[in-house]
Amino acid sequence: MAGGKTQTVLVVEDEESIASFVAIYLKNAGYEVQTAASGGEALAKLDSPLPSLVVLDLMLPDADGIEVCRRIRRQSDVPILMLTARDEDVDKIIGLEVGADDYMTKPFNPRELVARVKSILRRSTADRRPPESRQIQHGDLFVDAGRREVRVGEEEIQLAPKEFDLLWELLDHRGIVLTRDQLLERVWGYTFAGDTRTVDVHVRQLRRKLGEASPIVTVWGVGYKVAPAKGAVSA
Ligand code: CA
Repeated sequence: MAGGKTQTVLVVEDEESIASFVAIYLKNAGYEVQTAASGGEALAKLDSPLPSLVVLDLMLPDADGIEVCRRIRRQSDVPILMLTARDEDVDKIIGLEVGADDYMTKPFNPRELVARVKSILRRSTADRRPPESRQIQHGDLFVDAGRREVRVGEEEIQLAPKEFDLLWELLDHRGIVLTRDQLLERVWGYTFAGDTRTVDVHVRQLRRKLGEASPIVTVWGVGYKVAPAKGAVSA
């Protein structure tokens, strides 16, 4: 945050012990912290001033965190880090494309939470650069980085932001195997070995959405790569 003004993180969590310990770690990392103990309070606090990032618990007393996430998305594209108590909720968070940027499963290491907040904020700042005007055609699949558009033949496919970034990263390294850690670092910005299941869940979503046109190949025990386009002559 060199030279920049202090960034504010809004922590939405009704469990006071968790909210306060997350707040302490974020404050120690140099962030200003606001807390909200319910979805209603969170939405009220979004107005002024807009936080730089929202840490949002899935289980809230008055509303489902997913619904809160959706409502936040209707009014802003502030980065959202979801907290969930159960592993099964992860597919729900990512699968429903509610627009969360990342998630963590409880119990979590507060230092890791701070690291993720930092990386999300670093990326969301970097993402505001003018987009590259690059396009990749791969078989029936067409990806336009500038417009962030994906098409299979004539059909436009709606991808969540991280799904798009992951697909682009793989296509941009066609033929090269990328490990889950490499993908985490390049797409999510983690600089340490994180929860690599995030990668698997996003690959699963991409395959579901792209169907037959998905070029992603699992390299067992290593990671993922993009297969040669159908109809291309294999070397
Ligand atoms: Ca809760």
